[in-house]
Amino acid sequence: MTVVVHRAPVVLSPGAAPLADGAVAVSGERIVAVGPTDRVLGALEAVEVELNEWDGALTPGLVNAHTHLQYSDMAAVGLAEHDGFEAWMSAFMELYPVPRDWGASAAVGAALCLRSGTTAVAEIVTDAAAGSAVHDAGLHGIAFWEVLGWTERAWADSGERTVRAQLAELPTPPATGLSPHAIYSLDTAVIRDLARLARELGVRQHIHAAESAWEDAYVRTGTGDLAERWRANGRGEFALLRDGGAGTGVIRYLDDLGALTPTTHLAHGIYVDAEDRALLRARGVSVALCPRSNAVIGLDPAPVAAYLREGNAIAVGTDSLSSSPSLSPWHDVAALHGIARAQGYADDDLHARLFAAATSGGARALGLETDTGVLRAGARADLAVFPVSASAPRDALAELVEAGPDEASLTVVGGSIRWAGTPESERTSARV
Ligand SMILES: [Zn+2]
Repeated sequence: MTVVVHRAPVVLSPGAAPLADGAVAVSGERIVAVGPTDRVLGALEAVEVELNEWDGALTPGLVNAHTHLQYSDMAAVGLAEHDGFEAWMSAFMELYPVPRDWGASAAVGAALCLRSGTTAVAEIVTDAAAGSAVHDAGLHGIAFWEVLGWTERAWADSGERTVRAQLAELPTPPATGLSPHAIYSLDTAVIRDLARLARELGVRQHIHAAESAWEDAYVRTGTGDLAERWRANGRGEFALLRDGGAGTGVIRYLDDLGALTPTTHLAHGIYVDAEDRALLRARGVSVALCPRSNAVIGLDPAPVAAYLREGNAIAVGTDSLSSSPSLSPWHDVAALHGIARAQGYADDDLHARLFAAATSGGARALGLETDTGVLRAGARADLAVFPVSASAPRDALAELVEAGPDEASLTVVGGSIRWAGTPESERTSARV
């Protein structure tokens, strides 16, 4: 079999020293060698080699650890600015009921992911029509079926049967998972039972958590605007509303329900204190940080510096185009860099750690850490090349983290080229 070698002036992989003039050799779906170009080619002398030479920085494919591709059609909401979760949700709900082709909208989002150098996603599917986009685009990752709105009574009647059937409808690959939407949109017993169901089915869970201040008041005391809205919408029978809250914050509440396990990751994680972060570390739960979405909605920034200093597992998500200006993870990485510095994180490992969050950290959040998010012999050949103006590897890393591009020049998923920004004719390709 021909071995395909991708060569670039800079090769970066989390946990490894940056390389000048490096190469990644790929056979089928897998990486077979990574290193300085002369060494990689030297070891392949007896094999037929297809050499592709790229300008820029070659990295593992980015992992978008929180998105909803089906809302790609709702960019009008994500391009505006809102002054809080309530205002954003009203804007979202004004557009949501408009009949639209969720499948086509999700397919647009999946194509944008590939263009941005993303090779794996944590995709939340709310409408079944959007369920095949990740599969059709050949992206890696997990399609999470979103579960919301169930009261304990309705769930006892038909919940598990319904959700099992909905999950079974999602095409594979990718792997599928369950996304209990949030602590305020599901009754307490339902969140507990979904954790049991995920375990039983052997699937991962992904939950929006600690995203807004309203959510915090809601879980602690069953009060506030969100609680009032829910009572008015006929959800007054939710246990948290009936009982006047759980008396704890979101993270402790989820843990009490058995929902925090190493096979769960959270999105947002803004309103968390040191005790919450310690609990997340103890449970092996990653948090997908989505800073641009938080800013569009008008929320506070997450405690990025504290997560880094305390050693929490973090990943990067764009969220959807209904709350973010683009699906390009580098822009969220740049936002995290700005937030961490503003919060006083002064260590010089910040570039390396945020690069890791967008690659190996995302892979870990999705339980794919042995497979993707790094350039290593044996891993899946999920990689990307990004244009950079710096030529020294460390400067190229700094440039990607602080001002990475919208678009990759190459995206390879499982060994297959899924996006090549430059026309075929401009590429140097030779057999050696
Ligand atoms: Zn979301």
